[in-house]
Amino acid sequence: MAKIISGKELSAKLKAEMAAEVATFPAKYGRVPHLVVILVGEDPGSVSYVTGKAKASAEVGIRNTTIRKPDTISEAELLEIVDQLNADPEVDGILVQLPLPKHINSDKVIAAIDKSKDVDGFHPLNVAALWQKHPCTLPCTPKGIIKMLKSAGVEIAGRNAVVIGRSNIVGLPVSKLLLDENATVTTAHSRTRNLGEVTRKAEILVVAIGRPKFVTADMVSDGAVVIDVGVNRDPETGKLCGDVDYAAIEPKASVITPVPGGVGPMTICCLMENTIECFLRRF
Ligand code: NAP
Repeated sequence: MAKIISGKELSAKLKAEMAAEVATFPAKYGRVPHLVVILVGEDPGSVSYVTGKAKASAEVGIRNTTIRKPDTISEAELLEIVDQLNADPEVDGILVQLPLPKHINSDKVIAAIDKSKDVDGFHPLNVAALWQKHPCTLPCTPKGIIKMLKSAGVEIAGRNAVVIGRSNIVGLPVSKLLLDENATVTTAHSRTRNLGEVTRKAEILVVAIGRPKFVTADMVSDGAVVIDVGVNRDPETGKLCGDVDYAAIEPKASVITPVPGGVGPMTICCLMENTIECFLRRF
């Protein structure tokens, strides 16, 4: 039976600690951190993520403003909003909820955010700083994964870590953070040959693909640490599920994260932490 890392419990503990810290800010700095989230369109997934971010902000005592715009907004109008928020001294963090409608260039919008207010850690200068090991705002999901591993007492240094997925928001940065923790890292993807052979060598396996129950028990070695980043609908039950076949893998893993209640809550928790960090850097 694996040790289950509850992102829900860990994030609740960390949010309570942050709330106690934020409560001291008005006396010290005259205000609390302010996070502005821009939501374009009505995509149900995005609406739910934005609602979760507002709820977490309330729990931590962070001021949250959600700007909702229709998906007909032009790129120029969106860039104008970002410019205004960049210039607003009472805004500490700016998050543009992705994905954006096709007629808007997401890279351009993300690059327009002031680097010092980029709470997602997606700005090219933050990405460059991550890869050059300079101080930066770390992307929330990879940061949360490292916190989960450490909270469970998982030794990372010197171990074989395999990451499936090489996206800019999860796979690549989590590979880099594991490397920074001195793991020996393999990053697998859709062109990897004999994926099972690669994943069976993993002492730490991080899966960020976006395919329900893609990783089966035969792909995981006994005693592996398994971090499931995927958020999918199970085609059979319609319920949320991860990228790994949890029921089959949990008995053979040493440590595992559930979906829901695993990486997801930690991502939002790290967004709160990043907002506080951006706020504190302004004083
Ligand atoms: P993405 O941008 O679509 O990237 C998916 C990655 O998986 C790609 O690198 C792709 O390889 C790889 N892949 C696809 N099919 C594969 C296969 N058959 N074998 C091996 N690799 C394969 O997705 P993402 O944004 O990284 O997100 C991945 C999952 O994590 C999604 O379910 C998403 O909803 C979830 N997610 C969760 C959180 C959270 O907080 N819990 C945060 C972000 C994302 P190629 O590069 O070769 O195409």
